Amino acid sequence: MKLNERLAYLGEILINLAASPIPSHQFQALADQAGTVIPCGFLAVCLLNPDERSYQVHTLLGDLGNLISPRSFALNEGIAGLTMRTGRTTLCDDISQHPHNCPDLEGNALRLNLRSMLVVPLRQGERVLGALYFAAQPPVVYDLDDLQIGTLLAAGLSTALESAHLYQSVADERSVLAAVLGSSKDAVIVVGAEGIVLLANPAMGEALRQETQAMIGHPAATVVTQPQLRELLVAPGEETTAEIELLDGRVAQASLIDVTTPLGEKVGRAAILRDITLLKELERMKSEFVQAVSHDLKNPISSIILATELLTKSGELNAQQQDLSRRILDTSYFMDALVSDLLDLGQIEARLGLKIAPLDLAGLARAVMADLYPRAMAKHIELTLEAADRVNVSGDSQRLRQVLMNLIENAIKYTPAGGAVTVTIETNGAVVVTQVRDNGIGIPATSQPHVFEKFYRVRSEATAGISGTGLGLAIARSIIDAHRGRIWLESSEGKGSTFAFSLPA
Ligand code: ADP
Repeated sequence: MKLNERLAYLGEILINLAASPIPSHQFQALADQAGTVIPCGFLAVCLLNPDERSYQVHTLLGDLGNLISPRSFALNEGIAGLTMRTGRTTLCDDISQHPHNCPDLEGNALRLNLRSMLVVPLRQGERVLGALYFAAQPPVVYDLDDLQIGTLLAAGLSTALESAHLYQSVADERSVLAAVLGSSKDAVIVVGAEGIVLLANPAMGEALRQETQAMIGHPAATVVTQPQLRELLVAPGEETTAEIELLDGRVAQASLIDVTTPLGEKVGRAAILRDITLLKELERMKSEFVQAVSHDLKNPISSIILATELLTKSGELNAQQQDLSRRILDTSYFMDALVSDLLDLGQIEARLGLKIAPLDLAGLARAVMADLYPRAMAKHIELTLEAADRVNVSGDSQRLRQVLMNLIENAIKYTPAGGAVTVTIETNGAVVVTQVRDNGIGIPATSQPHVFEKFYRVRSEATAGISGTGLGLAIARSIIDAHRGRIWLESSEGKGSTFAFSLPA
């Protein structure tokens, strides 16, 4: 066959090698077609074992395969071993004369009257993966054309084997991922940049009571039936968390995260749902208990206050008696405030009796500031309001009054005499933002994430001697949450704090 005809066939073989990522298919393509470009009575693919000290011979053509016992060959055995060790092609007219022939390989070849031999290394860059082994009976004697074609064939096979390897590792990774996601109790859904569902694990199917296979490949906006989850996945926004009520009454916490490639390119977003039903139930039981205890304490505390007040008015008390009754009163007022705060918090958290109506937030702030004016005066604190005459929002006026009261009262309480407290109310597009700014003691950075937690109080030299229940900000946050608003703070220790909340306009 002429060289150009052989090259045309070679092109076809290379295409066939690339057609499948499965090594056995590639070997079959070689077994079927390699003989058309290089005459051979024997053809084998030798592959280096992972230990890199031995190799395996896969016979594709010729009966030699039956003669070789199925074993690994050491790398210092046979001509294939030599080719792999040196990384150089071996071309030889007479196998019997080659110094590296080994009985189990070349010995058997000689018995089949195979004489001429061509062994080409299979490489991946500098790394040798194995060798392609051709042998032929006389009168065939391999020449330089055979060597060139053999080299091209080996290059094609190396590339095909490498893509088979990559394909296998991707497939392995996929199956590990599928196994992890499949057995995870947390429900996971991944949505691509275009809003198409890319993945939903069985736990997600169970949580949504939907067939996950029917969701994959479709827009989340149409196939995700749970409205809160759909909104979370579809609405543009930052990574966030939300509580979601499932159809079967369970409560899940959904965390929305961005999915990015290792290069930081955003490919979509994932929502992970964790069942928090038990936690919510515990929280509810705890609140109920606190509510019951607070409720039962309210009356006895009022009685103590009343009795002590009566006592102080009932006649002349000596200095020690006066001191004792003042301490009883101070403690009782504190307990009364604590119990009221706890009862309030319970009601707000249970979303009980929130009366939403249109109201003027600026008017509300003016009223609260008028109430607190004497206290500010006593500390020579300048109290200023920066707001339009009217600022309309909808909300529960009594509860929002409580928020303003807590924030402005704190600002006065935690600002030394001679300071300033400024309240600003601004409409910012769809939200109204209220800020209470002071130039008081500020809050240490480590405490800032905790100040909205129940009972949290900053313990420092600056706060020593300032009393409080640690519930005011927790109440403020619950009220703002109930209004679907947001509350936050900015503070710098020793310089002052700004507490702000936003409400839908
Ligand atoms: P408290 O009854 O202790 O004032 P809050 O819940 O209102 O409870 O506030 C929690 C804590 O946050 C306070 O104890 C105080 O340490 C800190 N804090 C609140 N407001 C301010 C402020 N304006 N400046 C400095 N610290 C503040």
